[in-house]
Amino acid sequence: MRKEKCRDLELIPPLNEIKAMFFDMDDTLVKYREPVMAGFNSIKESFPELENAIVEDMMDQFRELFSYEAVLNREVSYREDISIRLSRILNDLGMDADDEKLHFSSVFWRAFWKKRRMVDGAKDILQLCRNMNIPVAVITNGNPQIQFRTMIRLKLHDYIDVILTPRTIDEVKPNNSLFHKAMNIFDIGPEGVVMIGDSFSADMVGAMNAGIIPVWLNISGNDRPEDGEVAEISSLCELVDLIRKGDDKDE
Ligand SMILES: [Mg+2]
Repeated sequence: MRKEKCRDLELIPPLNEIKAMFFDMDDTLVKYREPVMAGFNSIKESFPELENAIVEDMMDQFRELFSYEAVLNREVSYREDISIRLSRILNDLGMDADDEKLHFSSVFWRAFWKKRRMVDGAKDILQLCRNMNIPVAVITNGNPQIQFRTMIRLKLHDYIDVILTPRTIDEVKPNNSLFHKAMNIFDIGPEGVVMIGDSFSADMVGAMNAGIIPVWLNISGNDRPEDGEVAEISSLCELVDLIRKGDDKDE
């Protein structure tokens, strides 16, 4: 029997009850998968020997080669980290990648930054928080240097009060110390704090561990990987409508 999809939207408080909003960065506020894919497509187009390479496979390998330890231990810069991963992938595809290191890195980054844009609705929800004086924190497991550069390029400092990365806190989600650190900075408890993110295992499990309200941004309509009291939205625009409506109802 097909189960009616339960989205637990009643967990999302109305605007006037929200004390703070925490957001994940990659593929929640700012596009990540699309820029990475554009980077690989661009490399593939630049090198005829990669004609038969499958971009999805390259992206899977790119993800698997990522090491949190390297980022946390400050062993490599993000440019080095990505250059090392790209070399590994291209060497596995039969290229002598070390010879072309500078070239393919610049091809990748040009395409990446061109597509590194806000997710639909992100500006609206951030603007709403600004207008209502709701404090905003970004809690990200992404590479700190890329995230700070993203903040500058997209002028996110106007909307985000605090950004916590693995380098500022030496932990990654779902560890709840990141969430507690953000609550301490804003001097608030977990009540009325909402965490919005696209990763169930990192963002939602982390929020549940910290006792704050988890809102899963599930743009692709995936099945829930595990049970839990988690509200589920299909876009940030939907979230804006929901919290606005909730607020009207209360007046
Ligand atoms: Mg994410």
